[in-house]
Amino acid sequence: AKPALRVLLCENIHPSANEAFSAADLHIETLSYAPKEEELRERLRDIDVLGIRSKTLVRASTLEHAHRLLSIGCFCIGTNQVDIHGANMRGVPVFNAPFSNTRSVAEMILAEVVMLARQLGDRSREVHDGQWRKVATGCYEVRGKTLGIVGYGHIGTQVGILAEAFGMRVLYFDIATKLPIGNARSVASLGELLANSDFVTLHVPATRETSRMIGSAELSVMKKGGYLLNASRGQVVDIDALATAIRSKHLGGAAVDVYPEEPESNGDQFASELRNLPNVILTPHVGGSTEEAQESIGREVSIALTKFVVAGTTAGAVNFPAVELPQVGGTHRVLNVHRNVPGVLRDINRIVSDRNANIHSQVLATDANIGYLIMDLDQDVSADVCSDIAALSTNIRTRISN
Ligand code: NAD
Repeated sequence: AKPALRVLLCENIHPSANEAFSAADLHIETLSYAPKEEELRERLRDIDVLGIRSKTLVRASTLEHAHRLLSIGCFCIGTNQVDIHGANMRGVPVFNAPFSNTRSVAEMILAEVVMLARQLGDRSREVHDGQWRKVATGCYEVRGKTLGIVGYGHIGTQVGILAEAFGMRVLYFDIATKLPIGNARSVASLGELLANSDFVTLHVPATRETSRMIGSAELSVMKKGGYLLNASRGQVVDIDALATAIRSKHLGGAAVDVYPEEPESNGDQFASELRNLPNVILTPHVGGSTEEAQESIGREVSIALTKFVVAGTTAGAVNFPAVELPQVGGTHRVLNVHRNVPGVLRDINRIVSDRNANIHSQVLATDANIGYLIMDLDQDVSADVCSDIAALSTNIRTRISN
């Protein structure tokens, strides 16, 4: 039997990750911290799969020495801490957990919708300060009100479902055509959504088009007394314009979880125009921060990594051509990453036919730099085919999967 592949999990990754690795007979080592470059480089000498969260930096200079490394899992959403281009060029797919905290964000948004409608943030602060101020003026039920969702993706659709459970009407605007869930209704433009919603909640990605998508012009189109919620990305809202709209009482309140500039770590000072404005709920980018999301991230990323190790599946990798191929029994699976230049498939197929091997199935996908090929072959020739392919000048990495 082959020696067990070794996984290194850094930064206290949730133990929910262990299940998938153990089921695939991978050997697990854990670290409670983010190793610095030198330590990481040393450890990676005999590591096949690396799991990190947001604080472990994986630079080009680290990857250069990680000859055994097959794949990296970011047990979080972002992948900026990894040189994903460098990993791509070395044939190392990087996985993350894009959907694990969807429900957590959606629940927070609904809580905030009610909090804004009832000014609960301000009431709570007043009572904490020893002031008893019982008011009904300007406080509303959310039943029958309209929630406008900008970006009807994973989070946006979940928000819509929860809002309907509260008896709200749901409108959404998305640049892509999206199937309406429940009784949600799509509108043709951002302007139409802004003009017709009591609450506007943003769930778009950070792109060139969404940068400052909500500025003074857009806020002025919103209903007087309306509320804005942003738990997407800080760049989407012009903060000064929002502060002005709150001060002038054009808006009735706002809930903001993300900012154009966010402190690096807990305890750092936070400055914003929005501080201490009435009925403005400010949270420190915690939309997706729950125990459940952490557990779900552990499961989601470990399953993706295991599928890659065992079957070569790269669906969902952030830096790799997506390939997924069901495996039939009695074959060996050869996985090859090569430089994307003309003629590679011809060379590989020549090797296979020279070895008199029978290809049971084969699938290739490419990006600008690399090609990724999965090929199922007769077991008796797979090792020879694998070493012949590995000897091609275009080869980046070739292995037979576990
Ligand atoms: P998603 O990709 O599933 O959905 C995004 C949607 O926005 C897509 O349907 C897309 O078509 C649409 N879109 C893109 N550009 C648009 C535009 N210009 N106008 C209208 N619609 C547009 O993403 P998701 O998982 O729902 O996440 C949404 C956002 O939430 C992302 O920015 C993500 O970074 C953020 N997020 C924040 C937290 C937090 O802690 N606050 C947690 C998770 C995700």
